[in-house]
Amino acid sequence: MTTLNSRIPEGPIKDKWTLYKDHIDLVNPANKRNIDIIVVGTGLAGGSAAATLAELGYNVKAFAYQDSPRRAHSIAAQGGINAAKNYMGDGDSNYRLFYDTVKGGDYRSREANVHRLAEVSGAIIDQCVAQGVPFARDYGGLLDNRSFGGVLVSRTFYAKGQTGQQLLLGCYSAMNRQIARGKIEMFNRHEMLDVVKIDGKARGIIARDLITGEIERHSAHAVVIATGGYGNVYFLSTNAMGSNATAAWKIHKKGAYFANPCFTQIHPTCIPRSGDYQSKLTLMSESLRNDGRIWVPAKIEDAKAIQQGKLKPTAIAEADRDYFLERRYPAYGNLVPRDVASRAAKERCDAGHGVNATGEAVYLDFAAAIHRYGSTKAKIQGHHNASKEEIIKLGEAVIEEKYGNLFQMYEKIIDENPYKTPMMIYPATHYTMGGVWVDYNLMTTVPGLYCIGEANFSDHGANRLGASALMQGLADGYFVLPYTIGDYLAGDIRTGKIPTDAPEFDEVEKSVKDQLEFFVNNKGTHSVDYYHKKLGLVMWNKVGMARNEKGLKEAIKEIQDIREDFWKNVKVPGSLNELNPELEKAGRVADFLELGELFAKDALEREESCGGHFREEHVTEDGEAKRDDVNFAYVAAWEYTGKPSEAILHKEQLEFKDIELKTRSYK
Ligand SMILES: Cc1cc2nc3c(=O)[nH]c(=O)nc-3n(C[C@H](O)[C@H](O)[C@H](O)COP(=O)(O)OP(=O)(O)OC[C@H]3O[C@@H](n4cnc5c(N)ncnc54)[C@H](O)[C@@H]3O)c2cc1C
Repeated sequence: MTTLNSRIPEGPIKDKWTLYKDHIDLVNPANKRNIDIIVVGTGLAGGSAAATLAELGYNVKAFAYQDSPRRAHSIAAQGGINAAKNYMGDGDSNYRLFYDTVKGGDYRSREANVHRLAEVSGAIIDQCVAQGVPFARDYGGLLDNRSFGGVLVSRTFYAKGQTGQQLLLGCYSAMNRQIARGKIEMFNRHEMLDVVKIDGKARGIIARDLITGEIERHSAHAVVIATGGYGNVYFLSTNAMGSNATAAWKIHKKGAYFANPCFTQIHPTCIPRSGDYQSKLTLMSESLRNDGRIWVPAKIEDAKAIQQGKLKPTAIAEADRDYFLERRYPAYGNLVPRDVASRAAKERCDAGHGVNATGEAVYLDFAAAIHRYGSTKAKIQGHHNASKEEIIKLGEAVIEEKYGNLFQMYEKIIDENPYKTPMMIYPATHYTMGGVWVDYNLMTTVPGLYCIGEANFSDHGANRLGASALMQGLADGYFVLPYTIGDYLAGDIRTGKIPTDAPEFDEVEKSVKDQLEFFVNNKGTHSVDYYHKKLGLVMWNKVGMARNEKGLKEAIKEIQDIREDFWKNVKVPGSLNELNPELEKAGRVADFLELGELFAKDALEREESCGGHFREEHVTEDGEAKRDDVNFAYVAAWEYTGKPSEAILHKEQLEFKDIELKTRSYK
């Protein structure tokens, strides 16, 4: 059994990262040329790591299942990226970012990692600006900031509603420089299907060329997994359709512990589900909560009339609207963290005040912001007697400048003009705080196997604050892993090339081929999506926004049953040696069917409510999450022993030396 050692350096929190860097082993430039590193995943985390490791002189082999790193799911990130630059002069600092993140995560993250994240956050912005990322600027040309949930400062840098795309283009250009120099060998359209360990260390991977179907062996001195989150275990989520857990789950089965799988983020501002045949949900960025006010009809009869299509929201008088976040959380209002906002919306909808035909939606209304911005604009332009229409026109132009692409997206999907009628939103699965357990070096419990970005269990505890995922992914890739991996590789400078003809490669390759052959030869009756949807329903209904003991026990049994049926009756058309998306999906859903069970088991074991994990048995009198710091202030790291039901729990006790453990309040 592996013992958990988080390897947090000694010293005061402010100095840990500096002291650590001062004392680690380094690899000299000549030796770096003899060391190979595999990076699986080239989203923002993997792309930034690959570019930086290659810049340092290592030989990098990078893998992605899309046709280009530019298509990684990171491209979808809309709202922004946090950094404690204090450009707005509103009192921000590294300490505040550190504090907000630990509090926002409901005190379930590792202090030392979060402080390091805050320390390097400013450098990320400098790096990206140097790459040419077109962050929004104010009138004077300086970088602009906006606010995100759970904080009282404006620290979010953004590029309209396309921040992820612009950051990814910056990262991709850094990668391209290395691809051109031959320091990164890029394997697009390749899917890692397993990791190969030799003498207990990660030494390579088995990958499938998704175009030809060929199975390939790749060796290296270290392997980095940067394959994103597992939100698609719910089938419907805001993640890209291809986002999956296969790499993370496969390494878990090879000895990497999986941490806090039940910590999932349900995002409050998504376009509501419209029917049974939907395959994807769409996010409306949290940045919209800067200006949008969230409400439901205060009177049940109004809500009913709206559900039946007999009443329009614009016809409801101000006094008959319940701005429930502003009412319940006056200090943070519409900018409470996501878990709090999602639960509050669910509570109102469950009480019958929801809108949309299903009753599962609340309004996000920009009328007040349009009026406010329009009035200011009119004054600036010297129109002191501007008419209501003129004010609205000016205000809409400001809103369009800030969020135009998001409004356009909404209108295309819902076919309603959100400048005139409030948007409808409802919570949806969005991000996974759980993931592969890593120590301070970002190394898993398998030596030489690292995990970064959303794929690791990360710095966000039980709830991630908005705009912090991009910060963490880029911190890991540009500024943390390039140091920490050197400390490990310094011990490998005499190893020489890792051969791919070792028996360990034979064995793993055989098991990969056996599984693929099983799928195409199993002439079953149901499609892969049939099983994925079934799993998703169980996850959403029993392991979703609210969980309880009975539901979780049922979920575990139901997932086991779905899995059993899957392995008997799944039907995968096509053959092995061709482009076969159904075959790709089959492997991914097989892994989700195991991960889903561990997820429910973890949720059952965690007898408290914290962040996105809401156990109905553990609630305060006013309906808020009730944490249990005496018994559950730990990271749950699960060891695979053959079946998810038999996974062994290891606890990494969390110590809060620099931030006092308090009840989280946004009131
Ligand atoms: C709609 C949306 C909006 C968001 N907006 C924001 C925001 O404004 N701010 C913010 O901070 N966060 C935001 N997030 C979260 C953030 O975008 C993600 O957490 C982050 O981009 C994840 O980056 P990553 O590099 O870890 O993974 P990804 O970007 O998911 O990249 C995964 C990579 O792994 C590869 N891969 C996966 N499996 C395999 C395999 N088996 N073999 C080979 N390659 C594989 C993929 O090809 C890809 O290259 C948003 C998320 C969503 C869904």
